[in-house]
Amino acid sequence: MDVLQTPIEYLKGVGPNRANMLKQELNIFTFQDLLHFFPHRYIDRSTFYKIKDLPENSSEVQIKGRVIKTELIPQKRGKRLVATFSDGENTMELVWFRGHQWIKESLKLNTDYVIFGRLNWYGKRPNIPHPEMEIEEHFNKGFSKKLQAVYPSTEKLLSKGISQRVMIKMMEELLRTLKNPFLETLTENLLNTYHFIDKNEALKNIHFPIDQNTLTAAQNRLKYEELFYLQLQLLMKNLQRKQKIKGFVFQKVGAHFNNFFEHHLPFDLTEAQKKVVREIRKDTGDGKQMNRLLQGDVGSGKTIVALLTMLIAADNGFQSCLMAPTEILAKQHFQSLKSLIGDLGISLALLTGSSTKKEREELAIALEEGSLNLLIGTHAVIEDRVKFKNLGLAVVDEQHRFGVAQRAKLWRKNKIPPHVLVMTATPIPRTLAMSVYGDLDISVIDELPPGRKQVKTFHRYDSNRLKVFKFLSDEIEKGRQIYIVYPLIQESEKMDYKDLMDGYESISRAFPAPKYQISIVHGKMNAKDKDYEMDRFLKKQTQIMVATTVIEVGVNIPNASVMVIESAERFGLSQLHQLRGRVGRGNDQSYCILMSSHKLSNEAKTRLETMTATTDGFKIAEVDLKLRGPGDLMGTQQSGILQLKIADIIKDNQWLKTARSDAHQLLRADPQLNAQSNLRLKQTLAKMKTYQNIWNYIS
Ligand code: ADP
Ligand code: MG
Repeated sequence: MDVLQTPIEYLKGVGPNRANMLKQELNIFTFQDLLHFFPHRYIDRSTFYKIKDLPENSSEVQIKGRVIKTELIPQKRGKRLVATFSDGENTMELVWFRGHQWIKESLKLNTDYVIFGRLNWYGKRPNIPHPEMEIEEHFNKGFSKKLQAVYPSTEKLLSKGISQRVMIKMMEELLRTLKNPFLETLTENLLNTYHFIDKNEALKNIHFPIDQNTLTAAQNRLKYEELFYLQLQLLMKNLQRKQKIKGFVFQKVGAHFNNFFEHHLPFDLTEAQKKVVREIRKDTGDGKQMNRLLQGDVGSGKTIVALLTMLIAADNGFQSCLMAPTEILAKQHFQSLKSLIGDLGISLALLTGSSTKKEREELAIALEEGSLNLLIGTHAVIEDRVKFKNLGLAVVDEQHRFGVAQRAKLWRKNKIPPHVLVMTATPIPRTLAMSVYGDLDISVIDELPPGRKQVKTFHRYDSNRLKVFKFLSDEIEKGRQIYIVYPLIQESEKMDYKDLMDGYESISRAFPAPKYQISIVHGKMNAKDKDYEMDRFLKKQTQIMVATTVIEVGVNIPNASVMVIESAERFGLSQLHQLRGRVGRGNDQSYCILMSSHKLSNEAKTRLETMTATTDGFKIAEVDLKLRGPGDLMGTQQSGILQLKIADIIKDNQWLKTARSDAHQLLRADPQLNAQSNLRLKQTLAKMKTYQNIWNYIS
């Protein structure tokens, strides 16, 4: 057996208790896991301070000296242990609030120590609470002490005595135990291209760097390696899927498509739309299963692309389904598709959580006998009890509300999985998208339909509300409609509800009936009431729609030309962008007004400034990514890209690109990695497969 797979409890000094803590808290099960548990920072242990030269702040310092006495001093609750520490010239105090007994017993008086810790100033007198202490003789004998690793830790680990010091001891023990050098995992060619240090040096130096340069070299190499293997696996998986998984062949473009294209299409497709339709056409026609992500900013016209694809499916005798994240959106899709299709002879139906039993029963029959071509709905569509005769295409709108698991469920609907088109209006930068959705091919609509006016965006403070209201009434005068949106955050739903109601009241006062009519839509209403209110707005019976973010996704009301976002500082960038996308859909100049208080965090300021500066969804996504990190990006949660051990998808974006293109090139030349020069890669991949616990995120 590979010695690296030894369970962690067999490491000297780790018994069952510590092993359990390591498993629970850090997911460290084996030697391998520990070896790949990388420090998140390093502290400089090459400098020693004299007590008289200590910096008057709370930095971490290292001092040589001796303990000359200890004393237990009573305090309000319990006692503290105070040691007087001398560097030969001056003295200072070391303080412990816990673990007195053990420390008192293990401290050796008048012995040379190296101590390390964070300074605490009590007036002019420095002390160090809970310092790390090591007898100087041991300190000098240990691994290099120039840069000391600091490992990620948890409260629980610390409370169970697994301190940084213990972690370091374990690493030392591990490296002693693993006597043989670590095998190289990158090809000679890659090592030469980037002048990487070898694997063995890299692993040793990442834990115990001999100097800063070598540490940097180790970090670069390991980051690259991690990203490279991630990309290699994703690309291989994609290749395999294309080779192995058979898909339905949509052989022809037939009457439905042609008829629609020639007689019903209300506008010319943009070049970007045409390009995507061609990509889809190619995918669905060649016998492989399509798995395609369609990215396109709000309003870029994804729906029509979906419809055209569904028509091709119908032309080939297949059913399609389209799923939307909310009931409102599903209904809107249903209605707009219905009117687009007209008398084309395609049958379509709607299925949502509020479909009645009778409706469901009728639908089930039509679905199973195949007389229904197109099913539109919410998540209800993928429930197991919904059975199709021959589902050939599934379209998922607004991907970010849809989990990977749900996508997988779709794939299982037939023996042969349907072609899948996932549409998202939350653009994420391309390289990231490729990593996150590595198993999907990507199409982008990067062009808006002609004649769209840019939405003008302003940031206004609450104190300017009267002016804003004046502006709104002027717009209403011109016949426009207005959205006013309030935040809705799960944790404080009650408070948000109150904000919404207060807002509604003050707006009702500023825009009194009967001259003005106001709709209100929020999450607590039942679907029927929501629809009623939406409908009134759609029919222009109301001029103002007060709502929470339930309207965020997809709603299309071209006459609404002003979007007011209340407490805009509480929204994330992608949400703000989505909301703004509700306006600017008609021919009129549209506006987005971001209301906020004066109290803004730097981050909130950046968000609002970004919104007023650009309407480009991709630019906004870049900023969003920088502000929040990929962890909060919609859709990335389950992707595993976050569980990287050393690379950082944002900071190391350049490495990511390089690694991806290297992996690409390699596979193009040698798809099975059979060449002798790629042997290391093949062997490493095989190991990764065997020991899934390490790389289990690339399933
Ligand atoms: P999204 O990509 O946000 O889903 P939609 O598909 O809802 O965008 O399209 C937004 C609006 O643009 C719709 O009213 C649609 O009819 C219109 N549209 C789509 N494509 C074009 C085009 N090529 N030319 C003109 N209008 C278009
Ligand atoms: Mg849409």
